[in-house]
Amino acid sequence: MTGGLDLDAILGEIAADMAREEDRGKVADYIPGLAGVDPRHFGIAVVLADGSMHVAGDADVPFSIQSISKVFALTIALGKVGDQLWRRVGHEPSGSAFNSIVQLEAEHGIPRNPFINAGAIVVSDVILGGSRPTEAIGEILRFTRHLASDESIRIDEDVAKGEKETGFRNMALANYMRAFGNLDHAAEDVLQVYFNQCALSMTCRQLAMAGRYLMAGGAHPDTGHNVVSALRARRINALMMMCGHYDGSGEFSFRVGMPGKSGVGGGILAVVPGIASLAVWSPGLNDRGNSQLGALALQQLAVATGWSVLNPR
Ligand code: GLU
Repeated sequence: MTGGLDLDAILGEIAADMAREEDRGKVADYIPGLAGVDPRHFGIAVVLADGSMHVAGDADVPFSIQSISKVFALTIALGKVGDQLWRRVGHEPSGSAFNSIVQLEAEHGIPRNPFINAGAIVVSDVILGGSRPTEAIGEILRFTRHLASDESIRIDEDVAKGEKETGFRNMALANYMRAFGNLDHAAEDVLQVYFNQCALSMTCRQLAMAGRYLMAGGAHPDTGHNVVSALRARRINALMMMCGHYDGSGEFSFRVGMPGKSGVGGGILAVVPGIASLAVWSPGLNDRGNSQLGALALQQLAVATGWSVLNPR
């Protein structure tokens, strides 16, 4: 599948194209720690099923992965409560913004999916599961390091603090769901977990490594052990495909054709099952809150490689 492709050349060309782009979107400014990031950054990393890594641009510069962490948190929560999770969170696209509250009333406090904020907050509640917030945060950090086989991954305390100081809407979502009985712990504790997972700081290289289990049918390529079953990996990929870019999920799927999850830090994790795990980062966002150049770069990569889950070669 990758035979004959000169991936290093393709990625180098994409990075050069992106450096020339003038319309880079707008860096998220609602959290102080994100507002100061230089919009000129662009990085991309691709790890293939054979383990080879290909990078271009700022692939080793750490950035705030934000909502991409929702993929790893979902994986942990499914490990804890299995399919029971789907009683508390749906698996339908929302068509709404990442922090929307509107559907919660009509749907009795059950968020549409685990990748919008309301759904991710329920997932944090499940991970908390009676332990202290610091223990749950430690679990998420250790799990992410394990996925990436990289102990240097850390949480950016300043970003986590900024999330807390500006997280009024997330507080409203959490309390609203608690009123419906869909939160077991105090909103403050659940949000401490949620804010810290959002503040995970990773490079494109680390993120592509962390996504390998979704490329490899649920298995951790370094150990051969299952992180999740093949069925669960398939379902997580399905959710990324349908819900990974908020109300821009259809657009991303239409243009790129890969399961992907974006974050307001400008990162995107994308997966081509059986072939590659990819991470791209450019901090400027489009009007749906997704990385403007990140999506463009993946679109170019999909054309250059023929990689897609919609018409596999
Ligand atoms: N920390 C962000 C928030 O909840 C996550 C945003 C995102 O990447 O979607 O506001």
